[in-house]
Amino acid sequence: MANKVRVRFAPSPTGPLHMGGVRTALYNYLFAKKHGGDFILRIEDTDEKRFVPGAQDYIIESLKWCGIEPNEGAGYGGELGPYIQSERKDLYKPYADMLVENGSAYIAFDSPEDLELMRKQAADQGLPNWQYNNITRSSMKNSISLSKEEVEKRLASGEPYTVRMKMPRNQDIKFEDEIRGWVTVNTNNLDDKVLFKPTGMPTYHLANIVDDHLMQITHVIRGEEWLPSAPLHVLLYDAFGWERPKFAHLPLILRPDGKGKLSKRDGDKLGFPVFPLDWTTTEGETYSGYKESGYFADAFINMLSLLGWNPGNNEELFKLDEMIEKFSIERVGKSGARFDPDKTKWFNQQYLRDLSNEELGKIAEPMLSGNFETEYIANVCGLMKERATFVRDIIEDGDYFFGEITAYDDKTVRKKWKDNTPEIMQELLTDLSAIENWGTESIESVFSAFLERKELGFGQVGPGFRLLVTGKGMGPSMFEICSVLGKDKVIERMTNGISIVNEIKATA
Ligand code: GLU
Repeated sequence: MANKVRVRFAPSPTGPLHMGGVRTALYNYLFAKKHGGDFILRIEDTDEKRFVPGAQDYIIESLKWCGIEPNEGAGYGGELGPYIQSERKDLYKPYADMLVENGSAYIAFDSPEDLELMRKQAADQGLPNWQYNNITRSSMKNSISLSKEEVEKRLASGEPYTVRMKMPRNQDIKFEDEIRGWVTVNTNNLDDKVLFKPTGMPTYHLANIVDDHLMQITHVIRGEEWLPSAPLHVLLYDAFGWERPKFAHLPLILRPDGKGKLSKRDGDKLGFPVFPLDWTTTEGETYSGYKESGYFADAFINMLSLLGWNPGNNEELFKLDEMIEKFSIERVGKSGARFDPDKTKWFNQQYLRDLSNEELGKIAEPMLSGNFETEYIANVCGLMKERATFVRDIIEDGDYFFGEITAYDDKTVRKKWKDNTPEIMQELLTDLSAIENWGTESIESVFSAFLERKELGFGQVGPGFRLLVTGKGMGPSMFEICSVLGKDKVIERMTNGISIVNEIKATA
């Protein structure tokens, strides 16, 4: 029987989770669920220097908001934990020792100063990219260049050391990537990476391979930026004698102009979020998040699902369970996926329209200042939702439902408020006041009868009417607006508004 699918998302808490990271988590999650497998969240915090406080909680909270729920992992528990690498610190050393013993790795005593000196000397000779590798290692201080006695002496005296991978010379490493096909890399271009640090911490490479093995990971699905590390990882599996997982390196997410990778700096600069949630740096700099910007989590996830994957047809709108059903790694592309902020808004609009008036009302209610009846708010949402991208648009564009008119649309006053408009409005007001059974239909029929009787076109009456009742030049059906606002409010606004608008017009 084939192994149960087990995949992991393994972010480093070096900052907030970028939307590219969320997409990696999402694809892992979809793949796991599609195959009845497990999705694991592992925090890779072995790089103490790059640790950012708060980042781990941010990652967990972000996945929660997105509805991407791990089966096991940091914050979720599980049998193969702990799932935070710093809490597993003590288990890595024996694995580093194992590699030294079987000759796949070696011990190096070079201090940071030694390495700096080598780099500088090489640069002075016109070689700016000095590497610790299968050629230079013989002139460095390590268990390959030094005698066995010398190495033992240094170890006995407690001299700090690192463990480095002994990258073989001129060997082609081959592995099959589920997205890119066969990848071949010659080891002559690869350096002897540090696997274990003098601080007693493993580096990312060692911890990642050991944990993927111990956590029984079957597929490594991660961003393209990790492709250059994959040959080393493949060699590490071989060096341990462990079965390699399958690899799938996801395409980059590109900036909207297609020029380069979408970075965290692009977002607020170009006017869209690149993070799921707001993030404030220790220096007090804030980056905006999708959540706080008013996006629905399912719209955000839907948009992300299509950044690199497609279902094979034109369908675009899927909730998480449909995504699971349709997802396949075969349909993930190799080339970079261009992020489109306008399309992201479009997704939000579709999800907003899909919500019932009552659901929208519940979201809008806490955003309102003042108390309004639940049914009233829902009715306003029903009227405004076709034109809204975010719930806040309903509140902003429909401000006349939740407060008095504070301004009259300038252009409408200038162009549509004619000399005879006040008189027409006054007469319309009289007709409307006579309605006993106030509602969309009765208002509409009184209005139509008014146009007919006065032999006026809609354009001579409609804009002035809208201006008096809403202050705006555009909006949903006036009959529905009036019905929701109620007779008293409409009559009051028309009565008071005529002289106010006359005044504005006179002083304009
Ligand atoms: N810790 C790595 C990161 O920050 C994980 C890479 C991988 O998935 O192997 O993305």
